[in-house]
Amino acid sequence: MEPINGKIILKAGREKPVRQRHPWIFSGAITRVEGQPKPGDLVLVADSHGRALATGYYNPHSQIRARILSWDVDEAIDAAFWQRHLARAIAARQLLALEPHTTAYRLVNAEADGLPGLVVDRYGSSLVMQCLTLGIDRRKMLLAELLADLAQPDGIIERSDVDVRRKEGLPLTTGLLWGANPPTTMEVLENGLRFQVQLAAGHKTGFYLDQRENRAAVCQPHLVAGKTVLNVFAYTGGFGIYAVAAGAAAITHIDSSVEALEQAEANVALNGWTRPLDEYIAGDAFEVLRYYRDGGQTFDVVILDPPKFAHSQQDVEHACRGYKDLNWLALRLLNPGGLLATFSCSGLVSAELFQKVLFGAAVDAGRNVQIIRFLHQGADHPVLLSFPESAYLKGFLCRMW
Ligand code: SAH
Repeated sequence: MEPINGKIILKAGREKPVRQRHPWIFSGAITRVEGQPKPGDLVLVADSHGRALATGYYNPHSQIRARILSWDVDEAIDAAFWQRHLARAIAARQLLALEPHTTAYRLVNAEADGLPGLVVDRYGSSLVMQCLTLGIDRRKMLLAELLADLAQPDGIIERSDVDVRRKEGLPLTTGLLWGANPPTTMEVLENGLRFQVQLAAGHKTGFYLDQRENRAAVCQPHLVAGKTVLNVFAYTGGFGIYAVAAGAAAITHIDSSVEALEQAEANVALNGWTRPLDEYIAGDAFEVLRYYRDGGQTFDVVILDPPKFAHSQQDVEHACRGYKDLNWLALRLLNPGGLLATFSCSGLVSAELFQKVLFGAAVDAGRNVQIIRFLHQGADHPVLLSFPESAYLKGFLCRMW
């Protein structure tokens, strides 16, 4: 069993979020640290009178000095603890009944699954782990062993090449953690559709798993059959593959990555389709959309799924300007009666703020826009009520006239 090597004493009045089970302890809430905990060690978190409230792991190099693992201070943080939490997260995915039509999905969603800093995605018989914090990084071999036992994969690789690790004082790292390396390119199913993914080289852990439900919700035959579709920020097809399956007449995919577009085209072929009218445009989305606007080209359906624009609070205003420009352009490209599916994966931009930005774009474009469906991340990326930061992906399906 791991020892507890220190005690974080909170400032008076700063214990409320902890009592309400928010898992983060910011440096500004701390009055002092007793003992000499080393980075990654277990610590107690206590109120200003020294009364212990919770147990977590410590990182003096991060603004988030501790992340809480248990609110029961008598609960041991041992292998059995990690095993219980992993098992619970995995069991919750089984309830979603994703298999066998979907073979790629999130198994562990970090804080929202009570496992701060740990992301695990399943891709068929392989697992991909992201260790976002020092506390998880230090325990990753144990976690990989436990996951191997619980989920029975052929191999577990690490994709800890994410910038947030720098805030924890950690280098970026990738590699094999357990078992056999997955093949460079492998095939997964999402709602019965076939996608090739590259676990070692693809974005995130290989695929944007959080959009699965939205791809299905937006690309339904009654919405897109026979329509022209502009799939902006296409990555490896994503929404576009679903749009083909739903009978879209012609799809234009835009992405800045040539490799992603090549994979998108390969994914169309993989599903057995020949699509002479589809186009793949490599370039900056803003520039390509402006080019279409200048040329008077229009579409029936526009999908906007940009990368994260706001990485910190200081970025939010600039990010909103980007979202507004993009959505303004998209509205200008839509045929009357057309559909816009628009997303933001910036956690710092709330759904409410994103709706305001969209409103601003509609005003400037002189268009009437109805929201016909509110969209969010899939159920395998749950949102923990005590950790609202876990709700990051939001979107609107809109009709315009
Ligand atoms: N819709 C995709 C996921 C999109 S992720 C899916 O369903 O899988 C965001 C994508 O935007 C990435 O593929 C990235 O290569 C691309 N991208 C980032 N900046 C861009 C830009 N300025 N113009 C065009 N594409 C961009």
